[in-house]
Amino acid sequence: MAITRVWIEKGCVSCGLSESTCPEVFKVKAEGSTVVIKGVDYSGLEEKIKMAADLCPVAVIKYDEDDDVLAEMFAYDDGASNEAT
Ligand code: SF4
Repeated sequence: MAITRVWIEKGCVSCGLSESTCPEVFKVKAEGSTVVIKGVDYSGLEEKIKMAADLCPVAVIKYDEDDDVLAEMFAYDDGASNEAT
């Protein structure tokens, strides 16, 4: 599934692992906080983002994944009516 949103919750200890794992998305700022870089296209970076989230020692990296595929499966309409007659 495609990652649609990435964010960092409170509690980051600025260890730098996220930036070293996925510098396209994570940046440790000079004052010691870590941010998610704005405007990044996450396509092709899913594995690196998930790895950064897995490696984060305080588990503050979160992400949303697109569930369009599941939504399409549940919205499938075979044309048969389910209405009682
Ligand atoms: S891996 Fe986690 S704790 Fe370390 S800098 Fe990134 S967000 Fe912060």
